[in-house]
Amino acid sequence: MPTAALAHALDLGRFVMASPSSFHAAAEGARRLAAEGFTVLAEADEWPAGPGKYAVIRDGALIAWTVPEGAGPTTGFRILGAHTDSPSFKLKPRPTTGRLGWLQAGVEVYGGPLLNSWLDRELRLAGRLVTLDGEQHLAATAPLLRFPQLAIHLDRAVNEGLALGKQQHMNPVWGLGDPSAEDLLGVLAEAAGVDPYQVGGFDVVVADTQEPAVFGAHGEFFASGRLDNLSSVHAGLAALVQAAEASAAEPGEGGPIAVLAAFDHEEVGSSSRSGASGPFLEDVLARIGDALGATATERRRAFAASWHLSADAGHAVHPNYAERHDPANHPLLNGGPLLKINANQRYATDAAGAALWARVCGEAEVPYQEFVSNNDVPCGSTIGPLTATRLGIRTVDVGIPLLSMHSARELAGVQDPWRLARAAERFFVHAG
Ligand SMILES: [Zn+2]
Repeated sequence: MPTAALAHALDLGRFVMASPSSFHAAAEGARRLAAEGFTVLAEADEWPAGPGKYAVIRDGALIAWTVPEGAGPTTGFRILGAHTDSPSFKLKPRPTTGRLGWLQAGVEVYGGPLLNSWLDRELRLAGRLVTLDGEQHLAATAPLLRFPQLAIHLDRAVNEGLALGKQQHMNPVWGLGDPSAEDLLGVLAEAAGVDPYQVGGFDVVVADTQEPAVFGAHGEFFASGRLDNLSSVHAGLAALVQAAEASAAEPGEGGPIAVLAAFDHEEVGSSSRSGASGPFLEDVLARIGDALGATATERRRAFAASWHLSADAGHAVHPNYAERHDPANHPLLNGGPLLKINANQRYATDAAGAALWARVCGEAEVPYQEFVSNNDVPCGSTIGPLTATRLGIRTVDVGIPLLSMHSARELAGVQDPWRLARAAERFFVHAG
């Protein structure tokens, strides 16, 4: 195995641990880019015109881009789209609850988690607090909570099928005591270093605390929370930095404008101001075009010369459930990133996108695998069709293969995230 692949996976693990919420993922992405010379801009400010490396955060979303020397009003974009959120549990208002001597937390289910996978783990809270002055403060606690499973002695039929009620059974414990005398928000305020009486609102989720791990007979497996879809965000960050270095080494070569668009709220349908159905990407592309003096027609020409690589984790074949997969297409961990195809446009890939992906992977010297669903097992969707519909930009859906998608701890191959990053890097600099 290439040592670069292992190093990339271990760095992905560090990124996941630094990114327990979408807000942390956006901030950590911006922090990493700033360390590589990117300028982090605020949306309400005037932005500099001309070539450079920039990033902007909107809530839990991050968009970053590089404008090369020689870019003009019709220069195309190479956009890698991904998402910063994962299925989880979100704190309800008045979250301090409890009974029978236990302190518990009131949570809403966020997206579609495999509920059972969250049982019996040491969990933390992470997200943002907004104080009454309007300032946002990131907060992440130490290990604090657990969803304790009922002992088998009290549920003898559990192995015939575990039934978990989202309201009745998914109330994590976080201590012993009297809930009327305790304050979970106070714990969060302390973690954020703010006065609890100044907290006016919060967007806070539950996150696993277990460190990612490399294991398997030949060290081929990589287990971690939030691989869907921090694997793609992290690959996009690495590729954007590499592509910026490559274009800096060849000034005047022109080339496309590379963009990383890491949206929030994919797991709940993407319809928000920081989600892929919202205007964030279009707003940023419009401002980049304005800075290059693009007319409305020139912006359309730039879009027509653009590509969107929609990167999101997909499914590897599961050895115990072969019947759930297409009989002919069996992507495996470490077989390379997926090209995701669906006749009903749940993925946006078409023949032109498939050819682009084949070319990019060929140039990057990475293998890839096709994913298509079994006709009796409808597939999920991702942000690709949303941005394609909104912007009309040619789109191809890709992503690393996983087992246990939407588990608190998903399973990837250790080589695939690195290969996705290599292909994304070629995509960013590809002129065709
Ligand atoms: Zn996803």
